[in-house]
Amino acid sequence: MTAGVVETVAALRERLDRSRGAGISIGLVPTMGALHAGHTALIERARRECGCVVVTIFVNPLQFDREDDLRRYPRTLEADLDTCRSLDVDVVFAPRDDEMYPSPPACTVRVDRLADHLCGRHRPGHFEGVATVVLKLLQIAQPQRAYFGEKDAQQTAIIRRVVRDFNVPVDIVEVPIVREPDGLAISSRNVHLSRGERRVAVSLYRVLCEVQRHIAAGRTDAAEVRRQAAACLPADDGLRLEYLELVDPGNMQPVERITGPVRVAGALWVGATRLIDNLLCKPPG
Ligand code: AMP
Repeated sequence: MTAGVVETVAALRERLDRSRGAGISIGLVPTMGALHAGHTALIERARRECGCVVVTIFVNPLQFDREDDLRRYPRTLEADLDTCRSLDVDVVFAPRDDEMYPSPPACTVRVDRLADHLCGRHRPGHFEGVATVVLKLLQIAQPQRAYFGEKDAQQTAIIRRVVRDFNVPVDIVEVPIVREPDGLAISSRNVHLSRGERRVAVSLYRVLCEVQRHIAAGRTDAAEVRRQAAACLPADDGLRLEYLELVDPGNMQPVERITGPVRVAGALWVGATRLIDNLLCKPPG
């Protein structure tokens, strides 16, 4: 059973107040729609852990650093609603832009340090937009738990910090990356890949696995590990590695010597499509 779509903040608050009043726990799954198996994993986990599951579908203009990316971002609301229905979601919140931003926001969440590297370095303003919209969604829904994917590990680390810095009473739950059988991380942007691009897109995952292999073998020089792994990318004019970094999994700062667990993260342009992925790597012993 699924209630219909809720489009306004007031209607969502009213709906959730009823659940809260009945002592039902609320789980929030923020998404930008074009739902796929990665989102499904988040929703299923929320379904298992919470009495009332809210999925938000909002392509947040504030977090897009490129106009063309925002314009061509896939929008599949009807199919998304079917997916939510099949997963027994209680409420879908799909606001219009002017409901979330009736006027350009005067206050946004500025993110220090945690956003200095990886995607934050290459997408100016992106995490400020993400942190701002997620803080708004947490304020609106006031869930006990909110679900985010390890796929966007830097984003999840930033959300954890927002919650800590602004004393938001919510548990942040991180859900492992869902992959295609060949290892490609599932993403809404994968629909943009041509058949040829899809075939080479998996090289990002292969490079990350190569880093993982070097670290498991006891290599400790991060720059050297990166260089050798990046050299495994196939020579293909359509591929451009935007970054490949090894960072501390907690503060997302680059490491030089690998002495404990590190997260290797990369962004790869495949033609006009930008893909990201990451893996947690552990040294031996
Ligand atoms: P998006 O709609 O791309 O903003 O993603 C919404 C949420 O789903 C974020 O918390 C993502 O990290 C998560 N997510 C996206 N893709 C995957 C995936 N392949 N596996 C797990 N979580 C994912």
